[in-house]
Amino acid sequence: MKKVQKEKLEDLFERLAGDGVLYLPLEEDGVVNFAPWKKGARVNLEALNTVLPPKRAIFPQTETYMRFETDGKKLQIEQVEPVEGNYFLFGVRPCDMAGIKVLDKVFLDEPEDDIYSRRRQAGTILSLGCNDPHVSCFCSAFDLEPGFAPDADVALWDVGEVLLWKPLSEKGEKLTSSVEDLLEDASAEEERAAEEQRNSAAATVAAAAREHGWNVEGVEEALQDMFEAELWDKLYRRCLGCGICTYICPTCHCFDVEDFGKWQEGERFRCWDSCMFEEFTLHASGENPRPTQKERVRQRFMHKLCYYPSNFEGLYACVGCGRCVRQCPVSIDITQVIKEVGGVKSGS
Ligand code: SF4
Ligand code: SF4
Repeated sequence: MKKVQKEKLEDLFERLAGDGVLYLPLEEDGVVNFAPWKKGARVNLEALNTVLPPKRAIFPQTETYMRFETDGKKLQIEQVEPVEGNYFLFGVRPCDMAGIKVLDKVFLDEPEDDIYSRRRQAGTILSLGCNDPHVSCFCSAFDLEPGFAPDADVALWDVGEVLLWKPLSEKGEKLTSSVEDLLEDASAEEERAAEEQRNSAAATVAAAAREHGWNVEGVEEALQDMFEAELWDKLYRRCLGCGICTYICPTCHCFDVEDFGKWQEGERFRCWDSCMFEEFTLHASGENPRPTQKERVRQRFMHKLCYYPSNFEGLYACVGCGRCVRQCPVSIDITQVIKEVGGVKSGS
C-alpha cells in the first residue's frame, strides 16, 4: 500500500488538475460540495456528506446535448459533445460510490446511455473511507462498509498525517504510476491503523443499525404486498412535494428532456427531475396517473426499496447516506419506512 503526506496534497491536487478537472469537497460559506479545484480553494476532507452528492460530475443537473437552427423548412442539428475531457473525483465516500454503482446499472444497461457512459469512462474515482460515521448513517443496512468502497479506482484512508492509497482498478494503477513521485510506501503500522479505523467505523454503523432496527432484509418482498397499505396515508400528508429528498440523493436519476428556443435557434437539454413533483407524471391530456402526493410518496419508497431491487438482483436504490433523513423539512424518514415495513431482524 502507498501513502501521500498531507503536506504534499496541494502538489498532488495541482498535478491532477493539470491532467483534467479535479472535483473535491470544497467549502464555501460553510457549505461543502464537490466542485472543480483551483489554487487557494478551501478543501474539506473531514465533511462526511457533501450537501449534493458527487454524482453531479457524471450526471450533471442540467446538460445540453443538442443545438438546432431552422432556416425556413431547413433544420440543422448539432450534437453537443458530452465529455469535456478527463476528470478526477477525489474524496468520494463509500456510500456515494455505491450510489454511482446504482446509476451505472440504469445508464450502462441496455440500451446504454451514451452521454453517461462517456462521462463515466472519462473519470477516475478516489474514495475516502469514513472514520467517524454520522448518527444518521445506515449504509451497513445495505451491506456496505463505511470504511471501504470496493468499486472506486483508488481507495484512500485518513490516518492522521497521511492518506493511505490503494489502487483498485486499472485506472487506479495508471493514476498511481503517474503520481508515484508524490507517494511513499506505507508502513505496517499505518496499514494496521487504517484496518482498525475500518473495523471501528463498521462496528459503529452496525451498532446503530441494530439499536434502531435498520435492517432491510425482507423489505423488498414485504413491499410487494403493500401497495394499498395504510402506511402511505400516514406518510404523505405532511410531504411538501419540495423534491429535496430526490435532488440530494446519490441514487436518484430521473431526468426531464426539454427544448429551449428563441426565434430560429435553440437547444435540447436534460435536467434532473423529481418523482415528488405533481408535473412529473402529468400527461399533455391533463391525465395524471399519480394524482396526489400519496402516490408520489409511495412511488419514491417503492422504487428504492422494491421495484429497483426486483429489477437489479436485490440491489437497493438507497445506500444509507442519511441525506434525506437529515434534510427533509418535515422529517419524512426512510429508516422509519424500513422499520415499519417489518423487515427488521432485531438483534442481528
Ligand atoms: S424532502 Fe420531505 S417534504 Fe420534500 S418532497 Fe421529500 S419527503 Fe416530501
Ligand atoms: S434515499 Fe436517502 S438515505 Fe437513501 S441514498 Fe437516497 S438520500 Fe441517502
